[in-house]
Amino acid sequence: MDKTDAAVAAPRSSSLGDEIVARIHQLGAISETPGHLARIFLTPEHHKAADLILSWMREAGMSAHLDAIGNVCGRYEGDKPGLPCLMLGSHYDTVRDAGKWDGPLGLITAIACVADLNRRGKRLPFALEVVGFADEEGVRFASTLLGSRAIAGTFDESVLNTRDRAGISMREAMVAFGLDPDHIGAAARGRRELLGYVELHIEQGPVLEEKGLPVGVVTAIAGATRLAAKLTGMAGHAGTVPMALRRDALTGAAECIGMIEEFCRADESGLVGTVGYIDAKPGATNVIPGNVSFTIDIRAPSDMHRKRAVADTMRKIEAIAKRRQLALQLDVTHENRTVPCAPWLKAQVAEAVAAEGYGVFELPSGAGHDGMAMIDIADVAMIFVRCRGGISHHPGEHVDLADADAGAHVLLRLIENFRPQGT
Ligand SMILES: [Zn+2]
Repeated sequence: MDKTDAAVAAPRSSSLGDEIVARIHQLGAISETPGHLARIFLTPEHHKAADLILSWMREAGMSAHLDAIGNVCGRYEGDKPGLPCLMLGSHYDTVRDAGKWDGPLGLITAIACVADLNRRGKRLPFALEVVGFADEEGVRFASTLLGSRAIAGTFDESVLNTRDRAGISMREAMVAFGLDPDHIGAAARGRRELLGYVELHIEQGPVLEEKGLPVGVVTAIAGATRLAAKLTGMAGHAGTVPMALRRDALTGAAECIGMIEEFCRADESGLVGTVGYIDAKPGATNVIPGNVSFTIDIRAPSDMHRKRAVADTMRKIEAIAKRRQLALQLDVTHENRTVPCAPWLKAQVAEAVAAEGYGVFELPSGAGHDGMAMIDIADVAMIFVRCRGGISHHPGEHVDLADADAGAHVLLRLIENFRPQGT
C-alpha cells in the first residue's frame, strides 16, 4: 500500500507537518551566533528556547515546567490523573554551526501529537510526557547526555566542577541560568513512573534516503569504543635515509588506517570504523615523521560484535607496528555500551509505520541519543525520519515537510495504539 492509499483508508486529522516545520524554523532562529545556529547548554539562548518550548507545551494542553537541570518537561494526563506515562522526547541543545532538526524535530513532533489529541479532547489510559533534554551534545562541558542522565538518576555530580572554555564552571552556569546545582537529584524519575521512552529523531545518515523511505524503525543505538594510538619511529632526513633503513611512523599509521577501513568494509553486520584525527611530527616536508598520533572510533550494533572487532583491530595494529619496528601505545579512551531497542516497543513502532502505509525497514543508530541514558529507567524505542543527503551537525541539515508529517503521523498512531508491556 502506498502513501496515497493509506491516506484514503484512514483520513488524517490535519497536516501536522506544516506546524512542525514552522516551529523548527522558529526555534532554529534562537541562536548565540546569528546565521550559524548554536544553542549551547545554560546560555541565555538556551533559556529563551526553553521558554518558547514551555509555551508550546502549555498551548498543547500540558502542564509544563523546567526541571532541576533545565530539561523542559510537559505532562498530558491520561483518563485519570497520576497514571504512569509513555515518555517522548529529544534534546533542544545544538552543536556549533548546527542544523535545525537534530533534536528539535523529535521534541516538536511529540508536542504536535499531544496538541492533536488535545484538540480532539482525547485522553488515553496512560499519561503522556514530553521532555526536551537540556544537554545531549555535550558541547559546553565535554560531557554528553546531561539532561537525560539527570532524569535517569545517573547524573555524575563531579561534572558540576568542570569548566567551559571561558572558565565558567557548570555549577556557576546553572546558578546564572536560575537553577540550583545542589538539587539536580530532584530531576530523577523512577522506573515505575514510565511505561516506556520513545524518541523520534532525524536519521543523520543516508540509509533511508537510499531506500526511498520517509521513516525507519531503530533496532539499537550502537555502542562505541574510541582508541588513541601513538606510533613512534625515528625522524630523519628525507634525502639521506635510504628507504630500507627508515622507521616512518606516518607510513605505519597509513597502513593501520587502510587496515581499519578494509577490516570494517569486509564485515556485513553494521561494523563501522573511523580514523578522524591524525597528527604527524615533526611535520615538515623534508623530514621523515618520527611520531604520529591518531584516533580510532569503532561502532557496532551489538557489544559482543564491537568488542571482538576492537580486539581484532588492536591485534592487527600491534602486528603492523612490530613489523615496522615502531613503538606503539594504544589506549581505550572511551567506551559506550549498545542500547538495544525493546522488542515489544519496537514491534509497536513497526505496526504504526505499516499502518501509515510505509514499508517497515529496520536500521541501527550509529549516532548516540538520549535513549542511552533513558535505558536505565525505561524500555526504549526510536523512530528515524529521513534527512536530505544524510547530512547532520551542519547547517545543510534538512527534512522535507512530507517526511516531517509522515514521522508525526507514525508517532501519533503509535501513541494512540500504545499498549504497555505485557498487556
Ligand atoms: Zn540529536
